[in-house]
Amino acid sequence: MAGIWIFAESLEQTKELLSIGSTLASKLGTMTSVFLQGNTGVADDYIACGADEVLVLTALAEDQPLDAYIPVIAAEAQTADPDIFLIAATVRGKDIAARLAARLKTGLCSECIGLKADENDRTIEMERFAYGGAAIQTVVCSTRPVMVTIIPRTFEAAARQSDRKGTIRELPAAPPSASTVLERKPKETEAKDISESRIVVCAGRGIEKKEDLSLVQELAAALGGEIGCTRPISEESHWLPEDLCIGISGISVKPALYIGLGVSGQVQHITGIRDAKVICAVNKDENAPIFGASDYGIVGDLYDVAPKLSDAVKNMKG
Ligand SMILES: Cc1cc2nc3c(=O)[nH]c(=O)nc-3n(C[C@H](O)[C@H](O)[C@H](O)COP(=O)(O)OP(=O)(O)OC[C@H]3O[C@@H](n4cnc5c(N)ncnc54)[C@H](O)[C@@H]3O)c2cc1C
Repeated sequence: MAGIWIFAESLEQTKELLSIGSTLASKLGTMTSVFLQGNTGVADDYIACGADEVLVLTALAEDQPLDAYIPVIAAEAQTADPDIFLIAATVRGKDIAARLAARLKTGLCSECIGLKADENDRTIEMERFAYGGAAIQTVVCSTRPVMVTIIPRTFEAAARQSDRKGTIRELPAAPPSASTVLERKPKETEAKDISESRIVVCAGRGIEKKEDLSLVQELAAALGGEIGCTRPISEESHWLPEDLCIGISGISVKPALYIGLGVSGQVQHITGIRDAKVICAVNKDENAPIFGASDYGIVGDLYDVAPKLSDAVKNMKG
């Protein structure tokens, strides 16, 4: 047997991988199999979104870590011999992918942003960022299965289709783990998650002092949006939490509107706003690279422009 296998921690990530997985499967004339942890309630949903087979992993005991599934998945892969194994590039996903690749004696292409299959020679070309996002590297893996981790939100979630049929198969329970989970608690975050925000106003190093962030906050509030920042603002000045840093080493946002205030637009930042629908920039340097990535640009001093924008938005609202 062969096929495209998918493992992700969440329903949404699984559906994202199903959209690229189904594309690859139809190109290669093969099927898609999805791992489901414990809850069989969503198996039909996965089938409707493109899975031909749902492999149900027995729910773990409270003290078992997620990687307890590794021996079960590896044993299944050794028997079924999948062509491609897609795993969501979360912290735990990347850990599991690396350990599975070692067990299956195959390579691993980490943090991919694109995949192409050639139906003739069945090679898979994978794309990932290199040199801190300045270049895109194309990787071809000659061992099998081709293992890939894919950055969450790279692909749109697969849509439900009516009348799809698939099979559901239960896998053996995970053996006792070498490590034990002592406690689970939500990660403490200092800031709101802006990765799904509809409007993001980003503070760049054009902001001269911490108090002046109020200009950014005021515009964000007028627009009903959230504030984000570039890395120097969070990591060098520590004016805003790291959770708000947008870019290759921070978060990716995909708002309907992004406004950069005093942001130069280096590639490491632009990588995080590629999926914004409309990009606007205010920068006093007409040659700032951000204008090359913007739909609308204002060459001017943000200390002059930002309050005017805030007032204009407030006046529009009446
Ligand atoms: C491995 C690596 C990873 C990185 N990851 C990230 C990342 O995830 N996110 C990120 O943001 N950066 C990241 N960086 C840093 C990145 O390369 C840039 O240094 C950073 O994005 C620049 O931030 P900035 O635009 O705020 O500052 P600057 O590049 O200093 O730009 C400030 C801009 O403000 C303008 N300006 C100044 N005063 C005013 C004013 N009064 N009015 C209007 N405009 C004004 C200037 O003309 C300038 O264009 C990374 C770098 C490396 C090497």
